[in-house]
Amino acid sequence: MPLQRFRPISGRCKLCQGEVELSIKHSESLPKECPKCGQEIEHCPNLSAPVAKVLKTPSPSDAKAAGFQVYKRLGKGEYEKQ
Ligand SMILES: [Zn+2]
Repeated sequence: MPLQRFRPISGRCKLCQGEVELSIKHSESLPKECPKCGQEIEHCPNLSAPVAKVLKTPSPSDAKAAGFQVYKRLGKGEYEKQ
């Protein structure tokens, strides 16, 4: 079971040092609260990913793979769903 990293949305936590690792079962939804301190938490991206990859502008196919809606720019203020 891989550990998933979470961090409090406030960015600060005395109990978990601003980061907590939780093992998430596949069927479970992501936790909304830190089990240690009860703060709202968000899922951290994989910190082991190369920095260059994070800074790279995502291509439409990358965005689609990540589950984002992709819009093609048609002109000033116009977008078409691809
Ligand atoms: Zn915490």
